[in-house]
Amino acid sequence: MGSGQVTDWQGKHVTVAGLGVSGVPAARVLHARGAIVTVVNDGDDARAREQAAELEALGVTVRLGDGATLPEGTELIVTAPGWKPDKPLFQAARAAGIEIWGDVELAWRLRGPDAAPWLAVTGTNGKTTTVQMLASILKAAGLRTAAVGNIGVSLLDAVLGDEEYDVLAVELSSYQLHWAPSLRAHSAAVLNLAPDHLDWHGSMEAYAKDKGRIYEGNRVACVYNVADKLTEELVREADVEEGCRAVGFTLGTPGPSQLGVVDGILVDRAFVENRQKNAQELAEVSDVNPPAPHNIANALAAAALARAFGVPPTAVRDGLRNFTPDAHRIAHVADVDGVAYVDDSKATNTHAAEASLASYESIVWIAGGLAKGATFDELVAKSAKRLRGVVLIGADRALIRDALARHAPEVPVVDLDRTDTGAMLAAVQEARRLAVAGDTVLLAPACASMDMFANYNKRGDAFAQAVRELGA
Ligand code: ADP
Repeated sequence: MGSGQVTDWQGKHVTVAGLGVSGVPAARVLHARGAIVTVVNDGDDARAREQAAELEALGVTVRLGDGATLPEGTELIVTAPGWKPDKPLFQAARAAGIEIWGDVELAWRLRGPDAAPWLAVTGTNGKTTTVQMLASILKAAGLRTAAVGNIGVSLLDAVLGDEEYDVLAVELSSYQLHWAPSLRAHSAAVLNLAPDHLDWHGSMEAYAKDKGRIYEGNRVACVYNVADKLTEELVREADVEEGCRAVGFTLGTPGPSQLGVVDGILVDRAFVENRQKNAQELAEVSDVNPPAPHNIANALAAAALARAFGVPPTAVRDGLRNFTPDAHRIAHVADVDGVAYVDDSKATNTHAAEASLASYESIVWIAGGLAKGATFDELVAKSAKRLRGVVLIGADRALIRDALARHAPEVPVVDLDRTDTGAMLAAVQEARRLAVAGDTVLLAPACASMDMFANYNKRGDAFAQAVRELGA
């Protein structure tokens, strides 16, 4: 299929791997363009049957309960991003020299010749916040844009829909990048890299390599995190367009070609004339909501991408001021008896929880849930000095308890030994007992929620409800 835009789909045999949020629209679009589409799907449940019936009514072939066999005559596979690269279907495709695209690759190839350029963001944590900040900044500059990708709005819809855009703020997961070999962003950022999803990628090297694909072919700027050497290495390894620059962001004083912070001001020493000498003020730290260190880093990354696109400094400031974070991300719930209660239920891994804990001086930490294979020694060792006390809930809480015993033996720990939904109220009550005025009670579980709750939203809601009951 080459690496350019594909305009003639007539009669092409395309296999779509996986029904669901990306597979169904992909099948529809390809079928509408004249491709002969077969969808293969591992599962055969009621939802899959419903989706299959809809597609079959259009003339698409659907094979339920068999995601392993490569359909005869396949010329291209379009896969759901979550399908693991070592699946038999893909092994068979590779052996036959058949290309495999993900949903992002498909959107990239189907976009029109005058399509809006992409400013792309990946990283282990902070992606959603950063693309939303970026979209807010671009809007403040009067540009037509949207935050799309791994964020609820499908790229296929954004690229093929009726709405016209000047530029897109695109969140990309490591899976999506793995399956997007020809994507070429205008500029891109890797926010940070910590071990995550290693079972899928196979190794940290493979995970980093997939994240690094976001820089391939960048035209204006590759934005990296000065505090995270791995991100800078990925820039060095990338094959970019002539003239594309490496631009760092840092919470410290920026060097030339960096954005950073000086005396409470976000400053730009990359997109200014004579960057050896000059710096441009962009915004104040207090314009970032919330002004926690990791979130200032997110704001700097968003600002760097916006500046790479030519956005003026005032739009950076206005965009950051207009931005409100999604729920359950360091959300201040209430103050009770001089203690702040903060919901960061979205801190579902140790790297996120570490950033969250670094945002407060004296903390009663509510943690626990499903550990997904993580270890907690580093997190606990780094955060120990900030902990007034800890309340543990959830299935894998013993892992955190053991790490606390090793690295913070003096910190009081309440192990609730519960995984029922009502445990959150008990946890908040225990946290209140441990806290003194000026402390922060912080829900930053460092774990997934599914042992106790349907998702992290429900977990955060339960926390907020429990806090309200305290205040009542
Ligand atoms: P993602 O889309 O990558 O999951 P979000 O913006 O939704 O990221 O943030 C998820 C969680 O990660 C937040 O609740 C916060 O605890 C943490 N977080 C956000 N930004 C960063 C960052 N730059 N570094 C580390 N942790 C972060």
